[in-house]
Amino acid sequence: MKDRVILHVDQNSFYASVEMLRRPALKTVPCAVAGDPVNRHGIVLAKNQLAKQAGVKTGEAIWLSRQKCPDLVLIPPDYSRYLYYSRIARELYNEYTDRVEAFGIDECWLDLTGCPNDDGFAVAEIIRERIKNELGLTVSVGVSWNKIYAKLGSDLRKPDATTVISRSNYQDVVYPLPSEDLLYVGPATSRKLRRIGVRTIGGLVKVGPEFLRVLFGVVGLSLYAFAAGLDTSQVAKSGREVPVKSIGNSITARHDLHTERDIKAVTYMLAESVSSRLRISGMAARTVQISMRDYELHNFERQAPLRFATQLCAEIAPEAFRLIMDNFQEGQWIRSLGVRACNLVQASKLNQQSFLEDEKHREATLRLEETIDTLRGRYGGLSVRRGISLADRSLTEHDIRKENVIHPVGFFGP
Ligand SMILES: [Mg+2]
Repeated sequence: MKDRVILHVDQNSFYASVEMLRRPALKTVPCAVAGDPVNRHGIVLAKNQLAKQAGVKTGEAIWLSRQKCPDLVLIPPDYSRYLYYSRIARELYNEYTDRVEAFGIDECWLDLTGCPNDDGFAVAEIIRERIKNELGLTVSVGVSWNKIYAKLGSDLRKPDATTVISRSNYQDVVYPLPSEDLLYVGPATSRKLRRIGVRTIGGLVKVGPEFLRVLFGVVGLSLYAFAAGLDTSQVAKSGREVPVKSIGNSITARHDLHTERDIKAVTYMLAESVSSRLRISGMAARTVQISMRDYELHNFERQAPLRFATQLCAEIAPEAFRLIMDNFQEGQWIRSLGVRACNLVQASKLNQQSFLEDEKHREATLRLEETIDTLRGRYGGLSVRRGISLADRSLTEHDIRKENVIHPVGFFGP
């Protein structure tokens, strides 16, 4: 069978670049987009080249960046503007294929297989030029036969570059890279790998699938496939990255839950990941559903309408928690819990649903939750956490977003 032609397009320093477009004077000073609602110090979300040269790092506290770079200009994030540019870029990609899958706000996979122009490098170069001319932004593009290598490629050279990882060069290009460059290999996994002497992607391939399965379970098999270029996950069709009627998450707790506090911590964690996935897919839920299973394996489900169609954890979590507690009996031990957002509608099609003051508050909450999404997208699901989730770390130290994205569709079934 012929190889697929897959591109991964990554917009470079996306937030900072969009800000410099609006205010070109920012190009001449070190500047950073920084969100402060998350904690009292605030964190750098993106920086421009001058700030980078001064040592400013994405993800660090503002006070630390200021120490390195006293005249750093700080800009609050303007998500609606970023979304606008993100959408325009996606429309442009759509001219080349109907399979465009967004990964966060500034990255997309494109599958050109079977398209009129399926020369990966040529299309990558056209897109790179067009984004520069038509949007005034730069992208880096990776081209390969699978999503994982394409993503690796876009990281290899940036800004404003195209990197091809082909059947003839992948062992030279990919194998020497550190294993943590592989999508989904987080710090915990890479520590574990280092302990057995595996430092590179080539090293992962060398130890083989069976060994990795023993070490990591079924995830080990996908790690091997990712490393060896065997990933077969598909690029989703445009506009339906999540072709779903509902978005849910459930978890079997590390120990049975029987106190209100534990149940609340887990419920909020689940609701948080569900709402984050709603935002990523541009959907809002009208109904929340909970499911529980106790130690005797009795299943139980209930659902309730939400006051507004919503993407907010702040609205989904309390309702889910209420449903659970209404049906929880003293002395019951819960083994697994699920929260599901149902009755979905496209968020962009929602009109104002409530009084102005209410709506302002909801809007602010949405911005805050989006900021948290961004940080988690970049630094892992545990980088920003609710106070309540710290109550019992053994219950909530699952990197739940990661667990959701770790298995590309097709690997472990739907
Ligand atoms: Mg980027």
